[in-house]
Amino acid sequence: MLQTLRRIVQEVNSTRDLSQVLEIIVQRVKKAISADVCSIYLFDSDEELFTLMATDGLNSELVGQVQMSLGSGLVGLVAQRTDPLNLDDAHEHPGFELFTSLNEERFHGFTGIPITHHREVLGVIVVQSESYNRFSQDVVNFLVTIAAQLASAIINAQATRQIPIYSTQEVSKVRRDYRPMIGQPGSPGVAVGKAFSIASSVSLNAVPDRPAKDVANEINVFRLALESVRKDIKSLSFQLLSDGLPTEDVAVFDAYLLMLDSNTLIESTITKIETGNWAAGALRETITEHIQLFGEMDNPYLQERVKDIRDLGQSIFNQMQGINDLPVDKLSKETIIVADDISATLLAEIAKINISGIVLKSGSRTSHVAILARAMGIPTVVGVSELPIMQLDGSQLVADGYSGKVYISPPDHIIKEYSRLISQEEELSQELRELTDKPATTLDEVNIPLYANTGLVADITPSKESGAEGIGLYRTEYPFMIRQRFPGEEEQSTIYKEVMESMAPKPVVLRTLDIGGDKSLSYFPIEEDNPFLGWRGIRVTLDHPEIFMIQLRAMLIASKGQDNLNILFPMISTIGEVEDSINLLERAYEELLTEGHQIKMPKVGVMVEVPSVVFQMRRIASLVDFVSIGTNDLIQYLMAVDRNNANVAELYDSLNPAVLTAIKLVIDEAHKEGIPVSVCGEMAGDPLAAILLLGMSIDSLSTSAASLPGVKWLIRNFSHKEAKELVEKALDMKDAYVIKNMLTERIEKKGLGGLIRAGR
Ligand code: PEP
Ligand code: MG
Repeated sequence: MLQTLRRIVQEVNSTRDLSQVLEIIVQRVKKAISADVCSIYLFDSDEELFTLMATDGLNSELVGQVQMSLGSGLVGLVAQRTDPLNLDDAHEHPGFELFTSLNEERFHGFTGIPITHHREVLGVIVVQSESYNRFSQDVVNFLVTIAAQLASAIINAQATRQIPIYSTQEVSKVRRDYRPMIGQPGSPGVAVGKAFSIASSVSLNAVPDRPAKDVANEINVFRLALESVRKDIKSLSFQLLSDGLPTEDVAVFDAYLLMLDSNTLIESTITKIETGNWAAGALRETITEHIQLFGEMDNPYLQERVKDIRDLGQSIFNQMQGINDLPVDKLSKETIIVADDISATLLAEIAKINISGIVLKSGSRTSHVAILARAMGIPTVVGVSELPIMQLDGSQLVADGYSGKVYISPPDHIIKEYSRLISQEEELSQELRELTDKPATTLDEVNIPLYANTGLVADITPSKESGAEGIGLYRTEYPFMIRQRFPGEEEQSTIYKEVMESMAPKPVVLRTLDIGGDKSLSYFPIEEDNPFLGWRGIRVTLDHPEIFMIQLRAMLIASKGQDNLNILFPMISTIGEVEDSINLLERAYEELLTEGHQIKMPKVGVMVEVPSVVFQMRRIASLVDFVSIGTNDLIQYLMAVDRNNANVAELYDSLNPAVLTAIKLVIDEAHKEGIPVSVCGEMAGDPLAAILLLGMSIDSLSTSAASLPGVKWLIRNFSHKEAKELVEKALDMKDAYVIKNMLTERIEKKGLGGLIRAGR
């Protein structure tokens, strides 16, 4: 069975067209289990009808014509109960309805299995037999497995609208036409434009063919990539030899160099570019040809080379992405970047061009790429798990960064509606800009300073322009991520100084290196089964005091002459870690004083990201000057939900009563020690959550520059008293859904709805 299953799945995966997928399944399944009939019915949730989409055994002329509603007939019943139904004689079942034209009178044995995706029924797969026998449990298990595999193929086809429309009602055609794909809101705002697909750097295979606009330039891109790979390989091989690795182990690099210089590789790629393909497409063609050629040879040594060729092709392609991964001339303010994931460096490149939006297959609201996109004000949808990246290249898209909806080739009226909302948004941002110099003070005169989160020096100007009263979180790992090695004391100190000087005398919170989890350094790989529960943040830096001390010294040196440095420790989970970190900081401070530097001891804070800290807040607060709640991680650890996993993103909710209770506990306990509390996670920039934080008497909020004006508008329209009452109500409610409804209603009533949805 497993073999058959594997073969069917392989066949399905290599077929793009849904009708073909369904045909393959009904035929193969019928044969594999020796049934007399196998059929697939798909559900249209707009019309609430099931339609027969494929059959092997019934009258196939009726494909697209036999329809039934939810709950009616055995198919409708299977879907309604979302439970397999296995009968020895379907005719005896009270729910049985006979479709005589299908010629199903003679079939008695019946098994129906629902096809579901994220709790939603997409269809039903049915097998029938002439005999009066139930199908075996093995068959049922086999069908359940097939149905689970089929779900993602259906979702994919719905999005690219391959599902044929059989309804006779025009209206349903229109409705079906614009059903969006659903992802997660990544960065607010709406984008209307043309998709530009970026192949993920892991797969040269997925690179599409594209016409080479400028042949000479494409050849140049290829040659430059080749040259860089050659240089990299030479220096790597030299390095390994000088590290004492035996010559024979390094010989593979010589083989690589030979291949790089081989005429077949170079000439074949250039010829393909000259015949019209762009460099990446031409390289893919050449490498595929080489792989096929070597793979067919009998010689095991040559077969082994297949892997080398694949690796080499990938390296050249990666280099090409570095040189020309963003063909700037092909991007414009109408471009929506579509990719599996994009690196921070690539995003920084993208930010230089004024694009319309980003749609990603992976990630969630709090993955670092979403955080960066928000900082850059680029409307972004993340976690569209079924996104057919390469098929979308060049299609018209609408991406709604508030709701997480992505419309693929939508009809004109959708584009018009969203274009109207975009103009309204522009008006609203103009109004918000007028608040820049006004304080974030509630109607009853409570002031909540608003700070900006940054990580790139380039973020500083937008932060200042947004009216931020300081930097509440400077993520120091970004300067580490874009380098090829650990930056030294002087290098770091120059960066930190620039940040502090440009904000002075306003406060700046520098967070010490927070690598691990989903933030890795190419030159310091951390490989773990559970990176989010592993060696992260302070755990790494305390284990590497040499790295930590360089950073602490750099921060202190940079603070010379200013009085605005605050140092924040990430991923604290024990009191011992707080004490050890403070000890190292004091040591760095003493050292610098001895060396003659005139500096002041900065304020010290810890991040509350790990639940264990919530329950030791009072004691921890007594050791530090301030506390900053990192809700991105705190929610992930409280809810046991990977912040980057689109499959469980719905569980990740800052309005969950457990999250709210934990935050309130932190604020109350720290206040007992007279210690101020800030929130620097993304929750601070979420208007609904910000009302509750205000009501819990938070002392300040730190958010991306792009979200800051909206939060200010909100604070200026609420009183602390009203927010407190809402907190009391919220903490009495059963789940995030009802809390969200209550807050949405209040925000809309005050005319602030433009903060949480598209439009004004
Ligand atoms: C957080 O966890 O909320 C936080 C601000 O840190 P980061 O997002 O960088 O993990
Ligand atoms: Mg964090």
